[in-house]
Amino acid sequence: MSLRTSLPKIITDTVPGPKSAEMLKVRKDNVTDAVGMLAPVFVDRAEGAMVQDIDGNIFVDFVAGIGVLNVGHSHPEVVEAVKAQCDKYFAPNINVFNYEQYPKLAEKLNEIIPIEGEKKTILLNTGAEADENAVKIARRFTGRSEIICFAGAFHGRSYMAMAMTSKPRPYKTGFGPLPGSIHRFPFPYCYRCPYGMKKESCDMHCAKMFEESFFLEYVAPDQVAAIVLEPILGEGGFIVAPDEFMIEMRRICDKYGILLIDDEIQSGYARTGKMFACDHWSVKPDIIVSAKSVAGGIPVACVTTRKDILEVFSPGELGGTYCGNALATASALKILEIMERDNYCGKANHIGEILEKRFSDLKEKYSLIGDARGVGAMRVLEFVKDRTTKEPAKEETKAIIGECVKNGLVILGCSVRDNCIRFLTPLVITDEQLNAGLDILDRAIAKVQK
Ligand code: PMP
Repeated sequence: MSLRTSLPKIITDTVPGPKSAEMLKVRKDNVTDAVGMLAPVFVDRAEGAMVQDIDGNIFVDFVAGIGVLNVGHSHPEVVEAVKAQCDKYFAPNINVFNYEQYPKLAEKLNEIIPIEGEKKTILLNTGAEADENAVKIARRFTGRSEIICFAGAFHGRSYMAMAMTSKPRPYKTGFGPLPGSIHRFPFPYCYRCPYGMKKESCDMHCAKMFEESFFLEYVAPDQVAAIVLEPILGEGGFIVAPDEFMIEMRRICDKYGILLIDDEIQSGYARTGKMFACDHWSVKPDIIVSAKSVAGGIPVACVTTRKDILEVFSPGELGGTYCGNALATASALKILEIMERDNYCGKANHIGEILEKRFSDLKEKYSLIGDARGVGAMRVLEFVKDRTTKEPAKEETKAIIGECVKNGLVILGCSVRDNCIRFLTPLVITDEQLNAGLDILDRAIAKVQK
């Protein structure tokens, strides 16, 4: 059986096995612990949703490079496209020589990205860099300085992106001073409503607070360049903004001349069952920032805007050495072709249906699960010590993740309270592999709850 179609199997007595344990020493001695580590094993090969380590253990991967591999590890057509590009050239640098892939990818993105009217795109390397560029663009275009972002947001680790990120530890503490002119508004987290209200009766109180309080007490709206929003909080716990909230954000932006920046770095490219999460709402942003799964692991990030917004710049003001390099753009062009042709949105919805059903069974069995939510294949379980008090079950969540990894399922936590487990499986995962992973999770929760 090929790795692509295999099931998880641990063959060593311990995880890590001996070869990984040996390499962990090399890592420990030479790399800082500041670089995180989830599974203490070293990869030998990876195909589809499956990863084999150097000791021969096989894991099912529910993390997919943190949302980078919607097309799965080593998609044969993507490998082929990148290899073909390798034979020609890597990085002429778009500032120096032209090469077809950069404008072709921009053209494709401008065709599929859900912004009203004509569009333009620039390419960057990382999500953080793209978010920073979106802010530069919004400030230049509006001539205003202030930025509004949300509690629970994650936008990256560079200085501006770090300042826009919400979770102090581990992302910000000790790294100050951080850039200013950033204002944080509560995210509509209905399971833990910041105003202690119930969704059925709140009448979108939180959205109203923009005009009733925030713009009076914290920042004048005519100074605000942009509202930067993840419509489904990623690192913050896969919290889905209610429809009315998104509609209100668009209304406020229109009323005060503020740009709506939609960070789709984690939620984009078919993850939620639509090409972009904001496709679930009738709301069209002014700028969409995307990255991760667009290029399947070769760094490329994209800022797509209304055409007029990107027309006010002069040569050299935006860009960078590696931005939109030929390997990354060749990969992205092939991936977008595959996603459309093979109906990746359909795949995400199919995975979502299986997860929804299995989550409701798990929720019935285990009182540790307080909430199960998400859209398409972007779903999460939130763990609590007590369903009434909703006290976050942080240690239990960590123990469940550890237990899963030991048994062949690699799965990742999230949320500022560290009490959520998120599901970001490659969208090419088979039903059998998905269920095998969920069985491992089921046994892990049973063990920890006991
Ligand atoms: N925005 C969102 C929504 C993200 O999920 C991430 C990465 N997890 C980033 C920005 C930052 O991306 P990068 O790590 O490529 O800088």
